[in-house]
Amino acid sequence: MKLENIKLKTDYLNFDEEFFHKVKPTPLKKPFLISANNEVAKMLEIDKDELYNSKFTDLVNGSYILDGSEPFAMCYAGHQFGYYVPRLGDGRAINLGELKGEHLQLKGSGLTRYSRQGDGRAVLRSSIREYLMSEAMHALGVPTTRALAVIGSDENVARERWEKGAVVLRVSPSWIRFGTFEYFYYKRKHDKLEQLADYVIEQSFSELSQKENRYILMYEEIVKRTAHLMAHWQSVGFSHGVMNTDNMSIEGLTIDYGPYSFLDDYDFDFICNHTDAEGRYSFGNQPNIGYWNLSMLLKALSPLINMDKGKEVLERYPTYFTQHFHSLMCAKLGLDESKDRSKLIQWLFNIMQNDAVDYTLFFRTLSEYESKDEIGKLFISDKRIIEWLEEYEKELPCKEDMKRVNPKYVLKNYMLQEAIEKAETGDFSLVDSFLYIAQNPYEEHEEFSRYAKATPHKFKALKLSCSS
Ligand code: AMP
Ligand code: MG
Repeated sequence: MKLENIKLKTDYLNFDEEFFHKVKPTPLKKPFLISANNEVAKMLEIDKDELYNSKFTDLVNGSYILDGSEPFAMCYAGHQFGYYVPRLGDGRAINLGELKGEHLQLKGSGLTRYSRQGDGRAVLRSSIREYLMSEAMHALGVPTTRALAVIGSDENVARERWEKGAVVLRVSPSWIRFGTFEYFYYKRKHDKLEQLADYVIEQSFSELSQKENRYILMYEEIVKRTAHLMAHWQSVGFSHGVMNTDNMSIEGLTIDYGPYSFLDDYDFDFICNHTDAEGRYSFGNQPNIGYWNLSMLLKALSPLINMDKGKEVLERYPTYFTQHFHSLMCAKLGLDESKDRSKLIQWLFNIMQNDAVDYTLFFRTLSEYESKDEIGKLFISDKRIIEWLEEYEKELPCKEDMKRVNPKYVLKNYMLQEAIEKAETGDFSLVDSFLYIAQNPYEEHEEFSRYAKATPHKFKALKLSCSS
């Protein structure tokens, strides 16, 4: 499809104006395309050639408006680091409309009613991080929003230093957050809460639309999906960094990529967000926070559902999480999931925690080792892991499929940093290389094999801030 033939839908605008702010993007100066993603273009049925047309750059910059598009920002609230903030909303994101079941959104495209003290902008570094990481997560099988393109510009944006403004065109089947429900609950606007629930069911859980008890069934689906998302994050070693309820998707997708990080060495207590001094959003605490966030969502849904039933549903979360995590870890180990492997798995994590071993490299090596020494030398001391391997081998792992679930490459922070530093000098070659690696993480890519090694010591466990 050509850009001029695209027609977007904006059903969200049928709501009362309290749900959104109709606002046009503010284009950046001298925009240029950094990278476009053919896979997402294919999903949206946009012709590949269109991506390299200046009109496409204008679309991402907000100066070319597609047919049917009526840009708007969404209103929401949320619990940030445990405290309720009554009004947040898209402060720097502007929705364009829906195409093929995906909602197109520009991030970094200027002020909206919800910008508060912010400038409505996103800088080059954070835009590259979101663009690449959402694709990497998708390729690893982790539910996530995705990105069609990233553009740069000549516009100065003030952060801790002057940086350049950029925009990501991101897509998702839904941008509704737990915090969208919280907004109407705490404002005591229960009629709007109900309208929102009906919209979410129609858009995201349409199989429930005719059911009498559809609100509780919707909540159950969100509980299940959130548990599964946490299991995915823990199994691939992903730390989100800012699990506020406004960053929790009602479809159980990874959204709002900020100071996230993949683990370098396995560390249960790893904190990637340097403003999170107490480790509320530490790697190991993510599943607990998923539960806490769901309990906040339950409270927000209390006018619509029976709370005893709601609590019963919430109490199924630990089981959903544990079962899915067990199944994903068994696949990583090449073991049949019908037997309880939790002791073997926990034993392995204990050794990894003590011996500072690169999480991704360990599982990839386990998928293809010939002698135990190959594994042993990844660890500070090989004694305990060799004992573990002896027990593991008795379970007769099936190596065949392991390389298809244990990536050779994940986008570690130091890699992204390298791509960003190059990009800041005007060289975007690594952005495209990393997009390719991100989308094909299980393949060998000999020319990039240095990125499959353990993270160089000086780059380990980099912490990032939210200001992006
Ligand atoms: P985040 O922690 O990135 O999810 O952001 C929390 C809230 O702050 C969201 O409502 C964002 O839209 C808003 N926000 C973050 N950065 C900016 C910015 N530069 N300008 C306006 N709003 C922003
Ligand atoms: Mg956010």
